[in-house]
Amino acid sequence: MKIGFIGLGNMGNPMAANLAKAGHDVVGFDMADVSVPGVTMASSGAEAATGADIVVTMLPNGQILRAVAGEIIPTMSAGSTWIDCSTVDVDSARAVADQAKDAGVLAVDAPVSGGIGGAAAGTLTFMAGGSDAAFEKAAPLFEIMGQKAVHCGEAGAGQAAKICNNMILGVTMITTCEAFALADKLGLDRQKMFDVVSTSSGYSWTMNAYCPAPGVGPASPADNDYQPGFAAELMLKDLRLSQQAAESSDADTPMGQVATELYEQFVESENGLGKDFSAMLPRFEKRGRS
Ligand code: NAD
Repeated sequence: MKIGFIGLGNMGNPMAANLAKAGHDVVGFDMADVSVPGVTMASSGAEAATGADIVVTMLPNGQILRAVAGEIIPTMSAGSTWIDCSTVDVDSARAVADQAKDAGVLAVDAPVSGGIGGAAAGTLTFMAGGSDAAFEKAAPLFEIMGQKAVHCGEAGAGQAAKICNNMILGVTMITTCEAFALADKLGLDRQKMFDVVSTSSGYSWTMNAYCPAPGVGPASPADNDYQPGFAAELMLKDLRLSQQAAESSDADTPMGQVATELYEQFVESENGLGKDFSAMLPRFEKRGRS
C-alpha cells in the first residue's frame, strides 16, 4: 500500500518505520528536518498525501491538526483513508472528520496508548472513532503499529476514550502518591504499603504496574530518577483536554479538575517539567498540609 505519514516526531518516527519495515511504500513529511529508516521524505504534507491509499498523521495538537487537514484533504482521492493518531480535543477531531467526509475520504481518529516504547515495539493500543468502513480500512495498519485496536464509536469516540482513560490515570497517580506520602508520615514502610494495596481494593495500574516509589514494585521511572516515561507535561495536556471536553459537554468532573490544577502547578511552578508524571510523589513528600 502507498502510505503518507505526516508528523514524524517521538511517536510518528518509529510508527512510520514499522510500516515501512512491514513492506509498505511510505512517504513522510515533518516540519522538522528528520529522517526515518525506509521512509521517503516529501517536501510538504500535501505531497506526502497525494496518491496515498492511506494517510497517517501524528501531530502535537488540534490547531495543527486542523491546519494539516486543510492542506491534505483536498489532495486525497475519494475512497482513500485518513488515520489521525494525534491526541487532540474532541471538537477538532469531529471537525476534521466532517471535512474528510465531505471530500469522500474515510476518516478515523485513533489516538494511542503505549508511549514511545510501544511505538518502537509496535505494541500500541489504538482507540478508534469513525465508520465501520473506515475502521476496516485502518485495521491492517493498526495490526502493524500496535497490539490492540478498539473501535469505540463514531468520529471523536477515540479521542473521548483516550481523555477519559487519562483523566482516570492522572487522578489515580495523584492519590497513589499522596497515599505514599501519608504512609511515610504514619511510619508505614513503603514496601509493606505496596504489598497490601497492590493486592487489596486500592490496587490500580499506577500502584501495581508503575509504582511511583523508587525500589518498590516492578521497574518504573521512579527507579530511574523520574526520567519520563510519560512526562508530567503530557499528562497535563491530556487533563486539559478532559476539562475542555467536560466544559463543552457540561459534565461535572471535580476530580479531573483538581488533577488538572495540580499538574499545572507541578509543571509550571514546581520544576515538574521534563519529569515523569509519577514525580508527584517527591512533590508530596516535601509538603505538609499548609
Ligand atoms: P512530537 O512533538 O515529538 O512530534 C510531533 C511532530 O509533528 C514534530 O516532529 C513536529 O515537527 C511535527 N509537526 C508539527 N507541525 C507539523 C506540520 N504542520 N506538518 C508536519 N509536521 C508537523 O510529539 P510526540 O511525542 O510524537 O506526540 C505526538 C502525538 O501523540 C501528540 O498528540 C501526543 O499527545 C500523542 N501521544 C504521545 C505520547 C508520548 O509518550 N510521546 C503517548 C501517547 C500519545
